[in-house]
Amino acid sequence: MRKKIIAGNWKMNKLPNEAIDFFEELAPLVKNAQNEVVICVPYTDLFYSLMHVQGTDIKIGAQNMHYEEKGAYTGEVSGEMLKAIGVEYVIIGHSERRAYYAETDETVNKKLKKALELELKPIVCVGESLEQRESGKAKEIVTTQTKIALQGLNNNEVSKTIIAYEPIWAIGTGKTATKEDANETIKWIRGKIEEIYGKDTADSVIIQYGGSVKSSNAKELFEMSDIDGGLVGGASLKADEFSKIINYNQ
Ligand code: PEP
Repeated sequence: MRKKIIAGNWKMNKLPNEAIDFFEELAPLVKNAQNEVVICVPYTDLFYSLMHVQGTDIKIGAQNMHYEEKGAYTGEVSGEMLKAIGVEYVIIGHSERRAYYAETDETVNKKLKKALELELKPIVCVGESLEQRESGKAKEIVTTQTKIALQGLNNNEVSKTIIAYEPIWAIGTGKTATKEDANETIKWIRGKIEEIYGKDTADSVIIQYGGSVKSSNAKELFEMSDIDGGLVGGASLKADEFSKIINYNQ
């Protein structure tokens, strides 16, 4: 059975002291969590966050990484750098990075390969825009994004890749995909993975839903057959609210 991973994405929010306060509040609230708890914090919060989650089950992730090890890439951070300080997870190809920082399916593929080589746990984001959805292209878009992201990986590597299906129109808008819609698209993605890598591999891939998840809708979404937890933006900024999402099944 696949485990559920509930991952927060703080985006560009929280100073180190705010991160520390957050983890002090969250840790006791999720002590008995049955789901994997991850928070993807800004680079400047990584070290403080790692220090403050020691002895808890909370895992820390970054929100991006470069695919090269080092070099003349001003402002970038490599996977090796994340690994060196003990970061466990990394988000790759978030729609905001695709939209504002020219990330492409090809750079996502390169980053994913590098993350897996370094044994970082990658969360690869895919999802369609409102326009693509309204013109009936949602499935085609997520298929292309998924196939290119996974290009050149072996079955074992595909199994270790976490995918977050995040319809762009649902991110930060308060509009959530219906549980049936989200489940159907995630099933579709799993089916496409099965066509290339076989059923066992497809069944082992954790596929999250993301897009305005909150404590009031987490349970109905995460109880669906193919939704393996969520990637949570806004609602991960408050420890109390995020803990309710994590503990949706308690
Ligand atoms: C996200 O940032 O990945 C996200 C899903 O944001 P929100 O939950 O705020 O829609």
